Amino acid sequence: MLRSINQMTSLQMPSGQVVFCDFDGPIVDVSERYYRTYRLGLSTLQASHQETSGEALPLQILSKNQFWWMKRNRVADIDIAIRSGVPEDLVDTLLQQVQRIVNHPHLLQWDTLQPGAEIAIQQLKRIGIRLVLVTLRHPRQVQAFLQANDLIQYVDEIFGASDINAAHLNRADQKVALLKCAIEAQKKQGYQIYPTCMIGDTEADIIAGQQAGIVTVALTNGIRSHDYLKRYQPTSINSTLLKAVQSRRINQALQAA
Ligand SMILES: [Mg+2]
Repeated sequence: MLRSINQMTSLQMPSGQVVFCDFDGPIVDVSERYYRTYRLGLSTLQASHQETSGEALPLQILSKNQFWWMKRNRVADIDIAIRSGVPEDLVDTLLQQVQRIVNHPHLLQWDTLQPGAEIAIQQLKRIGIRLVLVTLRHPRQVQAFLQANDLIQYVDEIFGASDINAAHLNRADQKVALLKCAIEAQKKQGYQIYPTCMIGDTEADIIAGQQAGIVTVALTNGIRSHDYLKRYQPTSINSTLLKAVQSRRINQALQAA
């Protein structure tokens, strides 16, 4: 686990409430990067296969909509590969390749800010909420993105993973442990962590929030569909971070102290 405190904002008096929020999904749209990674993985596999066997693979490259629909409905990466025409014995090679390149700077540049995320973050700050990011990304990547989008001054603390591959794997147990650390650290600094909530776009965020006994807010503009998220019974489901921040439900939950 890696922790990064924003010195600029941590000078505030520890009186405010805290909101815990995931990064990929609520704030960043990773769909283009993930799709380009998939395409690049397939073309690399095609090239190396052709070189060793002299034959072309019968690939059927999915459109971005098809690919993202499958990711959002949690079709396994193995099945996505097979649906794309990758022979079974080459699936592992493709998945390893994808894992290797997904964090490459050339692909990271395709990450974009989610519509409305900037306004949502600014609104949280305006009402005096302390914003703590809990993410399976490496904090360096998070800081770089926030800086590039002029948002670093609105984020108080980042709890991230030291393993660069953690975000792509999205393991719920890692998120559970990370949120626990983040909550403990806020308590120690004297911040009010009841009531609070965890906002995120995957089952990992909902499970982490539920295990911490806090309100969970699922967002549907990330890497999971509404139907999929509903199964995990979050406290509420919203389409975007901005909609969540503006919803009465969250404001009531945060004002219930
Ligand atoms: Mg996420």
